[in-house]
Amino acid sequence: MEEFPKTLSDFSVSYRDESLFMEDVSLERIVDAVGTPAYVYSQAHIQAQYKKLAEALKAVDYRVHYAVKANSNLALLKLLGNLGAGYDIVSGGELSRVLSAQGDPGSVIFSGVGKATHELDLALKAGIECFNVESAGELDRLAERAALLSVVAPVAIRFNPNVDAKTHPYISTGLKENKFGVLKDQALALYRRAAESEHLRVYGIACHIGSQIAEPTPLIQALEEMLSLRRELAQQGIEIDHLDLGGGFGVRYRDEPEFDVGLWGREVARLLNGTGLRISIEPGRFLTANAGILLSRVEYLKEAVEDAKSFAVVDAAMNDLIRPALYGAWHEVVPVCNDLQGDRLPWDIVGPICESGDFIAKQRTLTLKQGKLLAILSSGAYGATLASNYNTRGRAPEVLVHKDNWRLVRRRENLQDQLITELP
Ligand SMILES: *Cc1c(COP(=O)(O)O)cnc(C)c1O
Repeated sequence: MEEFPKTLSDFSVSYRDESLFMEDVSLERIVDAVGTPAYVYSQAHIQAQYKKLAEALKAVDYRVHYAVKANSNLALLKLLGNLGAGYDIVSGGELSRVLSAQGDPGSVIFSGVGKATHELDLALKAGIECFNVESAGELDRLAERAALLSVVAPVAIRFNPNVDAKTHPYISTGLKENKFGVLKDQALALYRRAAESEHLRVYGIACHIGSQIAEPTPLIQALEEMLSLRRELAQQGIEIDHLDLGGGFGVRYRDEPEFDVGLWGREVARLLNGTGLRISIEPGRFLTANAGILLSRVEYLKEAVEDAKSFAVVDAAMNDLIRPALYGAWHEVVPVCNDLQGDRLPWDIVGPICESGDFIAKQRTLTLKQGKLLAILSSGAYGATLASNYNTRGRAPEVLVHKDNWRLVRRRENLQDQLITELP
């Protein structure tokens, strides 16, 4: 694989002789034990990414709130909690996961446009750090539920700064046309309402403009808008000492540069200097995307006749990893055993699901044969959490690697797991 020896380590893997390793564990050994398809995560990579953020923000009073939806495996939630992270959740189910992983409810921020009554109640009873409220209806419902439970709910309004994150439209959230957050005038009105309610306590201002953001500028623009909203609130007697800057820091999937957290951190420190503000950030992808790979085996090769394409049918599919089908996302694909001599052909790597959209990668030049193991890189975020049972396929197991150890952190889902909820 002459294209990759320099950069494979950015994706948490490397060849030893001709065999692919994650940290000090042979990926072939993991496949022997758990089969394919299987997700494998590197603890060292998550720790290193966390450290980059901590280093970038060392001049600031900050806390990392890991965006649970990126990868909600309990072992990863525990690992991140041990590093000092709190959590950003978007459902009651995610709150239950955090609590199962012994996460501190006082470190939980609840985001999302559609919080149901039972989810608000769960979070109010748990005593979370903050509710990031997205509409007038939600604010009213939250005040009502807090009154019923005789508690006071800490709130931030999710402010939509109308800043272009310059990312894929499906993962952009900070523009006027997006469903997320409220524009400035409405935010001011909601803050006045929150300040008047005896069951709500104004905690901060929240903002999240999108995902896979390539460079700091849009995030800095959003922060400037938040500071201006804070000044207007102060003029109305509403003091804010906490800003939630959201997540969205981009990572490398192909050849794009990783988001420059150092540059961003310096800009944040400059803008916050002298304000006394505390901040939260909500990274998901940045922490876990390149910590993970999806291992898969080639089932069949369908070589091109005439001018058709050549297809490698593998045992991982869109139900395991939907990003290529959903966003046209690029995932690098490399052989687990880099030992094959022979013709390198362009292959479309596809799954067994009955959909033409069921592909993992297109036109990748590889030497393949039936039975060969492949590693699909950058699969640690929005991979396992978006998996489904389409075609009655069981969800893949998940493995966590640490130095020369590995352990199963989720077993493969079996048919009984799937059928048990049905009532024929
Ligand atoms: C999804 C999401 C995040 C995390 O986004 P990443 O791109 O994974 O960093 C953070 N905050 C909110 C509100 C989100 O919806």
